[in-house]
Amino acid sequence: LEPAYSFMIRTRTPGGVVSPEQWLKLDAIATGFANGTLRITTRQAFQFHGVIKRELKATMQAINAALIDTLAACGDVNRNVMVGANPLQSDVHAAVHADAAALSEHLLPNTRAYYEIWLDEEKVAGSEDEPIYGERYLPRKFKTAFAIPPINDVDVFAHDLGYIAVIEDGDLVGYNVTVGGGMGATHGDPETYPLLAQVLGFVRCDQVLAVGEAVVTAQRDFGNREVRKRARLKYTIDDRGLDWFRDEVERRAGFRLEPARPFGFEHNGDRYGWVDGEDGRAHLTLQVPAGRIADTAEASFLLGLREIARVHRGEFRLTPNQNVVIAGVPAGERRRIEALVVKHGLDGYRHGSALRRLALACVALPTCGLAMAEAERYLPDFVGRVEALLERHGLLDAPILLRLSGCPNGCSRPYFGEIALVGKAPGRYNLMLGADHRGQRLNTLFRENIDEAEILAELDPLFAGYAAEREPDEGFGDYLIRSGRVSANPRQIASVLV
Ligand code: SF4
Repeated sequence: LEPAYSFMIRTRTPGGVVSPEQWLKLDAIATGFANGTLRITTRQAFQFHGVIKRELKATMQAINAALIDTLAACGDVNRNVMVGANPLQSDVHAAVHADAAALSEHLLPNTRAYYEIWLDEEKVAGSEDEPIYGERYLPRKFKTAFAIPPINDVDVFAHDLGYIAVIEDGDLVGYNVTVGGGMGATHGDPETYPLLAQVLGFVRCDQVLAVGEAVVTAQRDFGNREVRKRARLKYTIDDRGLDWFRDEVERRAGFRLEPARPFGFEHNGDRYGWVDGEDGRAHLTLQVPAGRIADTAEASFLLGLREIARVHRGEFRLTPNQNVVIAGVPAGERRRIEALVVKHGLDGYRHGSALRRLALACVALPTCGLAMAEAERYLPDFVGRVEALLERHGLLDAPILLRLSGCPNGCSRPYFGEIALVGKAPGRYNLMLGADHRGQRLNTLFRENIDEAEILAELDPLFAGYAAEREPDEGFGDYLIRSGRVSANPRQIASVLV
């Protein structure tokens, strides 16, 4: 008898856009093959947890039947391409999503192995040409995001490759391209660190694929293949310089990038509740705590969203902050959707503190094999304890950005948390402080390897200072840096701190 292995399966869903029909199929897979929950990742994909080994193939085939695949959802390739969920400008969102989906397809590996192994496709003799990935693929994983200002929900500066939409007179005219961001680090290894991406230049929409391919192949050829922990694009650029990298990209793309155009972000969170789109249809952003779509005593997310999917005629958009947008609701349908939301308790975003509404957590224990400490399961308790502190200082409405991560890999993009816990050991975390709320300033290590009581004791005087000394509309992270209570992370990139 072999051990009862169970697996996690992650989908490729560029921009996190799925139709109601696909939602229902994914829901059926979660209840039929997995642990009865759907998990929204911070990269706008779904994860199924607890798929047992003998059900793997049937699960993959069911995912394929939903016209979704898991191709390049992990591995040393370009991963799921992200797109700002933007419920306000649907026309621009559609245009940006189309560019992102095209880039996602363009950067897929050509291997037929996926189809042969999972979909019983007949094996065809001969070579599989991989003009982008070559024989060895990339030195490490590669992450791409498209941001739609003024919201930086994708945290575009956290990615190897980023596209910041440039909108002029309401039309998408192109993108500012960013390169060399990344979250991952290793505890105790000073050669590894999170970095902000840098702005490379401007490209037109018809240059998106060429510049993306040039960036990927430059990293393929120059990325560090000797030391895996230094194999991300951020280190290639940190070692060789941005000007060198731009020359390399322009040579490969066959054109020069134009100077970057002005851009500005207001925040990197989600805008909850109903908004009216440009086309008369409405969009509802719901908070899904830690991205876990499940039926609990507090809310029936699985059942509620299933019932909504049965009547909804627009689309669902997973947000980069693990939430969901019910997008494109015709005026006449709004009341019916709202009734289902209330019936199933999906309107938690209307209650609770600002801290709770903004908090992110990675999966961590018990599902992630790399976790050193709890994240998702610990989030509700930890938020409750911080809320008690905030209430004591009259700060319950302060929109403080909290992010929990079970290890330094940083799947919840913790280095952009105004407060972040990065797991070190069971019950112990590194306390990181001082990011902004636009995803343009990294936080910094404040205290290392401390437990909950020590974390709360460190936060208490900082909240007291913030309550007494903050300037109007000053964020907590901004206050910590301005007041000198926290030193700014030295690895900032001046060009994005605008
Ligand atoms: Fe990612 Fe680490 Fe969290 Fe696992 S524990 S989900 S690898 S950040």
